[in-house]
Amino acid sequence: MALIINDLCITCDLCLAACPNKAISAGEDIFTIDPDLCTECVGHHAVSQCVKVCPVRAIDPDPAHRESREALQAKYEQLKARKAA
Ligand code: SF4
Ligand code: SF4
Repeated sequence: MALIINDLCITCDLCLAACPNKAISAGEDIFTIDPDLCTECVGHHAVSQCVKVCPVRAIDPDPAHRESREALQAKYEQLKARKAA
């Protein structure tokens, strides 16, 4: 399942550098996560790095993007292949 940033976000920037997939960007008022790029850190880390560094609990599972671990792993493999191409 991709993650989503809620309106508790204080645009502190910490998650931006922490994301191994460059899935996070600065939005108009709060930061946003591209669900096509978020693998919940599967393939890189055991826990979601953005959640780990966020000081205000502004990152939740995105109910609109439910994915199994296998699907997240497959997304990771696709992103890796795209990067290598
Ligand atoms: Fe990036 Fe991982 Fe957070 Fe997804 S869970 S946005 S891949 S840091
Ligand atoms: Fe927003 Fe949390 Fe990311 Fe900081 S770490 S920009 S508060 S989501």
